[in-house]
Amino acid sequence: MTSSSVLPSPAPDNPWLDFGLPRFDALRAEQVVPGIRALLAELGAGLADLERNCPPDWAGLAVPLERCTDRLEYSWGLVGHLLAVRDSPELRRAHDEVQPEVVAFQLRCAQSEPIHRALCALRAGPAWETLHGAQRRIAANLILDAELAGIGLRGEARGRFNAIQTELADLSTRFSHHVLDATKAFELLLTTPEEALGLPESLRRLAAQAAQARGHAASAEAGPWCITLDPPSAGAFLLHSGRRDLRERVYRARVTRAAHGSTDNGPLLARILGLRLEMARLLGFASYADYSLARKMAKGVAAVRELEEELRAASLPAAQRELAALRAFAAAAGAAAEAADLQHWDTAFWAERLREERYAYSEEELRPYFPLPRVLQGLFRLAGQLFDIDIQPADGEAPVWHPDVRFFRVRDGEGRPLAAFYLDPYSRPADKRGGAWMDSCLGRSAALALAGQAVRLPVAYLNCNGSPPVGDRPSLMTFGEVLTLFHEFGHGLQHMLTRVDEGLAAGIRGVEWDAVELPSQFMENWCYHRETLLALSGHVDTGEPLPDELFHKIAAARTFMAGGAMLGQVRYGLTDLELHQGYDPQGQATPLDVERAVRARTSVLPPLAEDRFLCSFSHIFAGGYAAGYYSYKWAEVLSADAFAAFEEAGIADPLALAAVGRRFRDTVLAEGGARHPMEVFRAFRGRDPSVGPLLRQYRLA
Ligand code: ZN
Repeated sequence: MTSSSVLPSPAPDNPWLDFGLPRFDALRAEQVVPGIRALLAELGAGLADLERNCPPDWAGLAVPLERCTDRLEYSWGLVGHLLAVRDSPELRRAHDEVQPEVVAFQLRCAQSEPIHRALCALRAGPAWETLHGAQRRIAANLILDAELAGIGLRGEARGRFNAIQTELADLSTRFSHHVLDATKAFELLLTTPEEALGLPESLRRLAAQAAQARGHAASAEAGPWCITLDPPSAGAFLLHSGRRDLRERVYRARVTRAAHGSTDNGPLLARILGLRLEMARLLGFASYADYSLARKMAKGVAAVRELEEELRAASLPAAQRELAALRAFAAAAGAAAEAADLQHWDTAFWAERLREERYAYSEEELRPYFPLPRVLQGLFRLAGQLFDIDIQPADGEAPVWHPDVRFFRVRDGEGRPLAAFYLDPYSRPADKRGGAWMDSCLGRSAALALAGQAVRLPVAYLNCNGSPPVGDRPSLMTFGEVLTLFHEFGHGLQHMLTRVDEGLAAGIRGVEWDAVELPSQFMENWCYHRETLLALSGHVDTGEPLPDELFHKIAAARTFMAGGAMLGQVRYGLTDLELHQGYDPQGQATPLDVERAVRARTSVLPPLAEDRFLCSFSHIFAGGYAAGYYSYKWAEVLSADAFAAFEEAGIADPLALAAVGRRFRDTVLAEGGARHPMEVFRAFRGRDPSVGPLLRQYRLA
């Protein structure tokens, strides 16, 4: 067969099935269902064709697979993208209608036995020697992914594996429903100004809204105010409420969430952990942690433990010092009783008072210094210096989904086109979801080159939720918004500056879960570098850069109470690890015993006897972080260490800076998923990652 049989000709009448810069001006919700169904039918026929005659060679196997994956990701990704940035009831209905068919097709691709056999034959045969590194990695990862999904199991084992998957999916749904229901079941209604003592304006507004939603006639000024266990509500309340007794109630409710009655997650914990262990053993792994790490950058559980222990040793004494400082501060503020007996519901409150006294700045104070056009100019200049690229606006050269959306083209130092990206900078509560994210519109690919191109160039979507312009003034950004822009731009750089021609390993595709935040967090570091931040800033009226005094407060706020924050992350990471390796569901110890043992080594205050934090630890029991929570810190180590390479070379020296920048571009940004991330990191840094720079960054060294 020829590979063209799995590359159907795009339907010219349906713009969802285009294959280039999307025609955002022509996309209609009513064309989604027929378009995606037609695509699935074509791809399904191509897949069946491929399965009937799987040649164990690269061109006959991997290229059609890439086309199949890519076509669906492009069109279905477009639907997902618009759902996130231009939501409408019609589009949502269309998405929901066809989604089960898309999921079923994706499963069918991932679990295709003929394709798996052909890939294994490719790996075992003489053709393997002719493949280059990226191709081998793609094939090896496809094989591994299918194996982790149980493709190698037969008969009874296969049946048991599938039954476990089904039960785990159900348990995970029940776990999150319990958390949600338990969160909803709690409310603390404040009816007098005295009960609302200390609450800032923003929390009063939020709490009055919550009260209104529960049927009270409430206002931000006069109350009543309803405090809930939603993080923005409970978290802010613990920071600000001047009523110690009420803080205690909220804290106790939070740590016993989903631990009682009809929403009790307690019995689910051991069941989930037991099933995960059984599933891992069916696949030949000693533990679920070993199974999880098979597809991650970390070499094994020992490497993760080593990192967590190193961070624990550095952050525990710092957290103890921080606690002592809080006691002293509370005593000096006249709260003798609290100082003598500082409790869990006091620490955040006193830390916030101390922060206000020492480092407080308001985001409003900073905004005038960060007009978006100025920040973009500075960001692009920095990217130019570091990576020898040129970014220019190209608005009007591509249709966009909203008039505020910008379009930019990226060229190399010689002016050759490299990539393009859309930037959707502002929040639009009516039809755009919150948060910020980078998505792929098109990925780099030689096999899927568009007409007139030798290789298809990558295009990214950068989506933020910044403050919109008011009147004739540009968008004035908070420091947090500047950080977010840098973060997403970092993801975008890895997508756009890839040099990998194999689409399945280009950009962020194929990069391990625990390594994917390296470029994004790396870019954030520049916002804490004085000269860079000053160069990004310029007062909207006077053009003056950010005053030094404000910069120092920003820098100090980053390291304030960093020991306790780090220790908390270590506690979550180690708890996750111990539960997924070492814990024996048949043994005497309960998950709670395991958690308590970790906590004894990772806390400065003993837990309350009734604390059932595990019952709402959704990251690992209902999210994708099982035996992967450590990834947050793992990637942060990489990004801090990468940034340290620039500091060591001398950021003030343009030549040195450019040299390290080119090396970062040629390794981390260019190689993407084509090489193991540890090899990529070594190629950049010349050695294994070190924890030192991260500890220094937070002054914990
Ligand atoms: Zn990110």
